[in-house]
Amino acid sequence: MRLVLIGPPGAGKGTQAAVLSERLGVPHISTGDLFREHVTRGTPLGREAQRYLDTGELVPDRVTSGMVRERLARPDARHGFLLDGFPRTVPQARELAAMLGATGSAPDAVLAFTAPEEVVVARLLSRGRPDDTEDIIRHRQRVYQDQTAPLLAHYSGILLTVPAVGPVEDITARALAGLADTKGRAAQSVAITERS
Ligand code: ADP
Repeated sequence: MRLVLIGPPGAGKGTQAAVLSERLGVPHISTGDLFREHVTRGTPLGREAQRYLDTGELVPDRVTSGMVRERLARPDARHGFLLDGFPRTVPQARELAAMLGATGSAPDAVLAFTAPEEVVVARLLSRGRPDDTEDIIRHRQRVYQDQTAPLLAHYSGILLTVPAVGPVEDITARALAGLADTKGRAAQSVAITERS
């Protein structure tokens, strides 16, 4: 299964990604984690990404897409993956389509986690990552609204909206139920096509 997770910073995307990747048996690929690993290792990519991470800006598409392309080419991603944090812009979604198109595949579903801004800001303030100061958090929310939210319309055909307020297990259950439903509908439409 090829899944994309979208949601404002603080929607709990990373938490759900870890649980869902385990349950679905596909690798969890988080661009935020990959960037932070590069920064820690002091690689050239990490040095380039650092100032964007520090200010809550998006890392340029060229850098991000290159990193994701390389990660998706690893053998463990051949039969599926869960992308957490990519694509984050419409041009990145086009890049992803091109990467997957080369292998004749496309995302199966996009899970969009939703939560009110005050809830997500409060969660991030209690998380305490270095880029979690109130100013940077507010800025990342604006960046999400401006650059990432347009993806919801871009992926409207395969979008599953998951309300992300409440216990972690409930949110996971909602996501899995939505996915099961999508698979059921896909199987049904194949059966209908075969019959006609
Ligand atoms: P959050 O979900 O709290 O924003 P992430 O760990 O997903 O945190 O991302 C942290 C930072 O990494 C972002 O603020 C951004 O600078 C960078 N980043 C992550 N994914 C992308 C992406 N697809 N494109 C550009 N920059 C990204």
